[in-house]
Amino acid sequence: MTATTGPIRHDRYRYCPACGKTLETRRLRPQEPERLVCSGCTGVVYLDPRVVACVVLEIRGKILLMRRRRPDDTEIWLLPGGYVDEGEQVEHAAVREIWEEVRLRINLDGLVGVFSYCGWPPVIIVYSARLDSGDPQAGEETEDLDLFEPAHIPWDKLAFPSTRDALKSYLQGRTCQPRPLTVCMPAGLFP
Ligand SMILES: [Zn+2]
Repeated sequence: MTATTGPIRHDRYRYCPACGKTLETRRLRPQEPERLVCSGCTGVVYLDPRVVACVVLEIRGKILLMRRRRPDDTEIWLLPGGYVDEGEQVEHAAVREIWEEVRLRINLDGLVGVFSYCGWPPVIIVYSARLDSGDPQAGEETEDLDLFEPAHIPWDKLAFPSTRDALKSYLQGRTCQPRPLTVCMPAGLFP
């Protein structure tokens, strides 16, 4: 999974993709989030959620976790996965990412859940897959990978809340159960 996740930050976007003029942050409707509005053409730039596909991959009873080749997260483990490309089927992205990151061909066998968190742009869709054989190999962007017995998951060294929640759901035998089940409800949605 990619590590470019973080709180929503409108200030990452400065120029209108249509006309090149400066973007301004404005609240167009009282109950909606602030939007990026072009100071030239008045077009609104909507920042859509980014979709990430990950896989809990079990190989001979152990779960595959990986570390990414980046200086800032060398000690944290994450599920293999990555961003879904525009127009790409989510399941295809999951299979493709597993191939790119750990060089294994998999068939998905279930949906672990859909994970999203208040104030964070990515929506993480986690599938499951099992292999009875095959040795994962680190792909180009993978620093390290390892197989963990379920009892030895490094819970205190997981990269993201979604990594933890997806593994918990998977290990508790829950599939198709979106977590967190507590809905973060914006104020003023309902009268
Ligand atoms: Zn514009």
